Amino acid sequence: MTKFIIITGGVLSGLGKGIVTSSLGMLLKSHGFEVTAIKVDPYLNCDAGTMNPFEHGEVFVLDDGTEVDLDLGNYERFLDINLCGEDNITTGKVYRSVIEKERAGEYLGKTVQIIPHITDEINRRIWKVADDIEADIVLVEMGGTVGDIESSPFLEASRQLHMEVGHGNLMFIHTTLVPVLDVVGEQKTKPTQHSVKALRSIGIEPDMIVGRSKVELESSTKKKISLFCDVPEDAVISSPNADNIYRVPLILHEEGLTDYVMNKLELSGNNGFDEYMVRWKEFLNAFENPKDKLRVALVGKYCDLEDAYVSHEEGLNHCRAATETEIGIKYIESKDLEDRDNCSKLLSDVDGILIPGGFGTRGIDGKINAVEYARTNNVPMLSICLGFQVSVIEFARNVLGYEDANSSEFDPKSEHQVIDLLPMQRGIDKMGGTMRLGSEKILIKEGTMAHEIYGDTRIQERHRHRYEVNLDFKEEIEKNGMIFSGTSINKMRMEILEIPEHPFFVGSQFHPEFKSRPMEPAPLFLAFVKAMLDFKEESK
Ligand code: GLN
Repeated sequence: MTKFIIITGGVLSGLGKGIVTSSLGMLLKSHGFEVTAIKVDPYLNCDAGTMNPFEHGEVFVLDDGTEVDLDLGNYERFLDINLCGEDNITTGKVYRSVIEKERAGEYLGKTVQIIPHITDEINRRIWKVADDIEADIVLVEMGGTVGDIESSPFLEASRQLHMEVGHGNLMFIHTTLVPVLDVVGEQKTKPTQHSVKALRSIGIEPDMIVGRSKVELESSTKKKISLFCDVPEDAVISSPNADNIYRVPLILHEEGLTDYVMNKLELSGNNGFDEYMVRWKEFLNAFENPKDKLRVALVGKYCDLEDAYVSHEEGLNHCRAATETEIGIKYIESKDLEDRDNCSKLLSDVDGILIPGGFGTRGIDGKINAVEYARTNNVPMLSICLGFQVSVIEFARNVLGYEDANSSEFDPKSEHQVIDLLPMQRGIDKMGGTMRLGSEKILIKEGTMAHEIYGDTRIQERHRHRYEVNLDFKEEIEKNGMIFSGTSINKMRMEILEIPEHPFFVGSQFHPEFKSRPMEPAPLFLAFVKAMLDFKEESK
């Protein structure tokens, strides 16, 4: 019998509910259970694909190509599992299937309503995930904050799910904020009390409360929450700010989270932590005790937003542990590099340059300058997706001498569109839906740097792009010193580029950051970090 844990949030968003969910999943996995996690996003979008990173943070991509909320990236990283589109339930998806069924006459003339039709569809989706992988435990993180109009059908559905499976098979964990007022310095429990009240008014009683706070909850604070929110004292867990997210599982475990959950759900796992926890602790130890230091420039276009490059940051963090090297990120808005002198100045104090993906013309010239700087100064550079495309454009402009070289995404009139839609895509573009998404096989040429990095001739990586290297220019580019060491199986799409003459000038059309895991960093990231270490050593 599958057990369910519903994680709700109160008071305000951005509390780190996703990290609490991921950490709990990691702890339960360490106790020998098959665990998976679902993210509920109450917005009307069907998926996160159309969302602007400025508003929503990074769009994460799964193996099956579904574009999802960045929390699913954390689930994958903490649980070391591969999720699929069904693990992200949005209002858009739920309503779309109910409306499609209604149009197909499947409700047999009934009035179609939020209860029971929408709520049934929500629970059908949750059960499907549970049944498909025969999970012991399914975590369901409710996006948004209790009290939002949008999330109420989902909360109602989980109330019904609780009725259906009964006590002992489902529990509610409510995450709230416990602020401290500077004037009095006291931890305030009133916001928690109010949000629990809101939860109870819709028929949900939390079994546990996780209080997010700057520092640990005092015992008097826990007592108060226990009394006013009607949960036992040991069901109030404190989740203080942590230096790094990978420590959170250990903090929550010390606080008694795992024991309480296992008791409540009548679970008996392997009593001690298994091998997964041993490896996690080794990772954490290496992470927290770096012996060296690097500085990498991340040349982006959404640098002002904290969550826009989460997977890149985590990819570097995983290398931090693997190489025992602290990697400081210098965020540089690409438009600040449009002036060449400024570009050289801003890039002069870093050990490597990372150019991530992105969409739209803004900031392209700055990225081109950054690529030129890396190429001509032998600075290690890893470029991803849009970064990869910009590397080709820079090469075409400055080495092949095509001044107007560009991507047809940015300059449809250029004579030298070295990045373009594939011929078979051109017609469909008008209809939209041409994005190439998800995991695809890649062929790697033997004897190249990519081959050395991956140690294989066939790999799979995740994609999210529309434009490609234009094959008309392939031969000329390769003759002049930039080679394509990875391609799609049919060799029509260029996947990895490198300049063999350069210490580390590597780009990928795919997104290696989506598959990086704490104990298994993405090969391209790891090779990049090692190249930065060599560069630093040589520049001494
Ligand atoms: N805008 C480019 C394309 O669509 C790159 C996309 C990306 O970087 N994810 O091909």
